[in-house]
Amino acid sequence: VSDNPGASPDAAVRSYIQAQREAFLADLIEWLKIASISADPDQAGEVERSAQWLAEQLGGAGFPIVEVWPTAGLPAVYAQWDSADPGAPTVLVYGHHDVQPVDPVDLWDSLPFEPSLRDTPHGQELVGRGAIDDKGQVWFHTLGLAAHLATTGRTTPAVNLKLLVEGEEESGSIHFPELLRANRERLRADVVVVSDTGVYDRDTISTTTGMRGLIECQLDVTGPRGDLHSGSFGGAVPNPATVLARLLATLHDDAGRVTLPGYYDKVVALGDRERELLAALPFDEGRWLADAQSTATYGEAGFSTLERVGARPTAEVNGIWGGYNGPGGKTIVPSHAHAKLSFRLVAAMEPADVRSQFEQWLAARHEDATIPPGITVTATFEKSGVRPCLTPLDHPALQAVTRALGRAFGTRVLYTREGGSGPEADLGEVLQAPVVFLGVGLPDDRIHAPNEKADVEFLLRGAESAAYLWSDLAATWPRGS
Ligand SMILES: [Zn+2]
Repeated sequence: VSDNPGASPDAAVRSYIQAQREAFLADLIEWLKIASISADPDQAGEVERSAQWLAEQLGGAGFPIVEVWPTAGLPAVYAQWDSADPGAPTVLVYGHHDVQPVDPVDLWDSLPFEPSLRDTPHGQELVGRGAIDDKGQVWFHTLGLAAHLATTGRTTPAVNLKLLVEGEEESGSIHFPELLRANRERLRADVVVVSDTGVYDRDTISTTTGMRGLIECQLDVTGPRGDLHSGSFGGAVPNPATVLARLLATLHDDAGRVTLPGYYDKVVALGDRERELLAALPFDEGRWLADAQSTATYGEAGFSTLERVGARPTAEVNGIWGGYNGPGGKTIVPSHAHAKLSFRLVAAMEPADVRSQFEQWLAARHEDATIPPGITVTATFEKSGVRPCLTPLDHPALQAVTRALGRAFGTRVLYTREGGSGPEADLGEVLQAPVVFLGVGLPDDRIHAPNEKADVEFLLRGAESAAYLWSDLAATWPRGS
């Protein structure tokens, strides 16, 4: 069995999907009625029910292997359908079936778990908690797969397809890394496809190429054993609050660059093509500033705002405290002062490197007397940090996603980089596979907010993209490894 590259399958895929539209929506609405709020312990039974519902549907859709995977918290759903083609690439699709809490309920126009279809000037919208984040985006994969099979005449997918649908994403994916490690062999894949993101906007179809990593620490600066009277001692002993301020002031240079030694050494530079494509996004800096409730931008010289947010590493002071903060004055030399710092990392920085760079940086501040004798500074890194992930533009998986989205939406596909990071980093790291993003959310979908909605046409284009993607990957994936 093979796809027929001679005929354009697009019209067939499209009409198959349109024919299934009502059934697709009816089933999704049934799933959306299950209040699978992972953050609410009272709804644990609903998260369980949501997993069972999905497992049953995936079995009905033809997946030969469907399992509900328990965790120490809430269950995930795993499904697998191998291709009959020897040597077919293996794809793992990631999504989640839990949803955000619905408060404040009175701001919803209809009940969050009584989904409703509305007609708008843009077309039909499905309103309800989880419509786009992320049940709608998991569900479009079942339609995409059905279209793929029906229009290619295949009885198995062109790729070995695995589906992992988590139940704790909206409450921090606490047991997810453990679940991945425990099932590493079964989850093995050549490519991870994440369907839990969106496009840039309605008229600008895009996919994400990377997410930043993160490492955090607390700085504790200690001087005299207790607070001292500033009249008797002030001016004659080092002040920890002053030292902290001087120290933090040296964390960036005048060009906004972070001063840790070697901090930028492993940073993958933005290529000309990626810079060009980032610049092609219809980014409205004024609107972005309004969202930020800031009156000016600031950052590393030589980079645009989008580049700074997505493709450059940062150091931020998240909080400073110490000494007296109450009403009136208190004339002391404080005994100690503190700060919380966080570093956003980009490919191919390693959180562990940043930690040792920070320690070297502190040692140098002792040498240049920014930290004078009589003051102790300790840096405590609580966790091992999150690694950044990046899929290069020329990666075959990213190219296949780009083509699939381009065909489904009939337009050029641009690229974004995300500032934050979620379970995607764990997926890439534990499974050692490239991560690509097939997401069709819109910036006005009100995810995590009242009246969350999905644009029905975008969900259907997501299904269409998936239908193309499996054939494309099977045809273009480098074989023989
Ligand atoms: Zn989500």
